[in-house]
Formats: sequence, C-alpha cells, structure tokens
Amino acid sequence: MIPITIVDQKEIQKHYQPMVSTTHKGLQGHALLIGGSYGKMGSVSLSAKAALKSGCGLVTAFIPKCGYDIVQIAAPEVMVLTDVQDHCISAIYFDIIPKAIGIGPGLGQDTATQQGLYEFLKTNHFPLVLDADALNILALHPDWLALLPPKTIITPHVKELERLIGKWNSEAELFEKTIIFSKKHQLIVVMKGAPTHCIDGDLVYKNTTGNAALSTAGSGDVLTGMITSLLAQSYEPINAALLGVYLHGLTADIALPETGYQSFIASDIISYLGKAFL
Ligand code: AMP
Ligand code: MG
Repeated sequence: MIPITIVDQKEIQKHYQPMVSTTHKGLQGHALLIGGSYGKMGSVSLSAKAALKSGCGLVTAFIPKCGYDIVQIAAPEVMVLTDVQDHCISAIYFDIIPKAIGIGPGLGQDTATQQGLYEFLKTNHFPLVLDADALNILALHPDWLALLPPKTIITPHVKELERLIGKWNSEAELFEKTIIFSKKHQLIVVMKGAPTHCIDGDLVYKNTTGNAALSTAGSGDVLTGMITSLLAQSYEPINAALLGVYLHGLTADIALPETGYQSFIASDIISYLGKAFL
C-alpha cells in the first residue's frame, strides 16, 4: 500500500501564504501563459485570467497573432505578446522575466508548434507548468522530457496521462507507473480526475475538494493558470500544485448551491476564486 497524504483544509493551511500588506505587483510574481491557436483562444484567455485571480501581480500571455484582440478584450489586465505566426505558435521569444511559465492550453499540435516548443525547451530555465497539447507533444517526442527543469509540474487528464505512461490495468498499476514516471523525469504529476492526486516521486497526495460540476470545457485550462500563478508567487512547486488543485475544487463546492452541476462553467471557477481563497 502506498502512503497517501489527504489534502484537506487543515493540510492546505500549512502551505497557504497570506498576502503581505506592503506588497506590490512587482513582488507578487509575473506569470507567463503560452498557448492558443486559431479557434482555441478561449483556453489561454481563461488560463491568463485565472492566473491573475489567483494572486500574481502581472500576467503576460504569449499567443498567435490571431488571438491578439480576443485576449486583450477577454482579459484587459493581461499583457499580450504575439508569435510571428497568425494561427499557431511557432517560435517562443519574449523579453520579460517571468517567475513561472504555463504552456499548453489551446496550443494545438501543428508541426511548427512542436518545433517551437522543442527550441524553447532546449534553452528554458524558468519554472514550468505543462498541460494539454504541450503534454500531447511531449508524448509524441518522449526524448524531450529530459529538457524539462526538475520539479516541472504536469497536469494531465486521464487520456493525456495514458499517452505519456501507456495503458494500465488497475488503479495500483496506474499509481506505480505514475510514480516511476515522476521519479525518472523529476516531475510533479497532477493526475486530474475525481478525485485528483498529486504525485511527487514517492509522495502521493489526494485532494478532497471538487465535484462533477468541474467536468466542463476549459476547467483544466483554469487550473493551469492557477498553478502557474502560485508558482510565480514563490510557492514550492508541490505546494503550488496542491493549493491550486484544492482551490479549483473548492470553487465548485462553494458554487454548487447557486449554479447546480449543469450550469457551472469554467468562467465560474474564476468567479468563485475569491470565495475559495477566503
Ligand atoms: P480538463 O479535462 O483538462 O479540462 O480538466 C478537468 C478538471 O476538472 C480537472 O481538474 C478534473 O480533476 C476536474 N474534474 C472533471 N470531472 C470531475 C469530477 N467528476 N469530479 C471532480 N473533479 C472533476
Ligand atoms: Mg485540459
């Protein structure tokens, strides 16, 4: 039996860092969200807005040119940098110094995007959160996993995880394979599900918040923005993952009496973040 730490309110409060009264936006951390492609700009807009609403001081989105107006209008507080390409990301260059970078929401898997991700990973030293198509691209090129900085956080749902570690026949085998994968590549694996588990080598954490209302488009994109924001605020990577997952689930628990299961959408996760933090 693998020992599992239950992540409830008592456990999460050990890690929670309240905001200091004299802080300013330059001290609250700068998160960079990289993603989006033609027809999928909502995902990176949700991530960027969720990052801001999770407490970091500055958020920049790096997106393909076609998303410029979309992201600026969806989230006016977010700064926007664009790729040279119109419809997808192909070359990731920026002149800012982020504290953490989240990559993947709406990214797509265009050949140019795959190459651009590879070139970026070869020289990147910033702390990373990887989700969605960034993970699907890594599943196509497993050698590139060696390029990730230690303690990179990955946030796969079941299908994305299966592409990375292969199929499993039982829950025990799923945990065994994920722990081996986490150790081999020094990754923190957020195994999204009902419930979500976070795995950091031999350490396994089980989240206690969340409900079926979270099974809605964009839910994972919001989580990516939240965890990237917490990482940018200098939380230890495992604590950023645990707190992000806990608060993400808590929004749905708080909202349930008002929205019901069916009417809760990803934007509502962002709207309820304030109550979850409180
Ligand atoms: P994604 O599939 O990337 O949009 O991520 C979905 C998010 O919603 C993950 O954080 C899941 O853990 C969460 N989620 C989805 N369905 C459920 C459920 N039935 N109960 C609790 N959390 C869920
Ligand atoms: Mg997702």
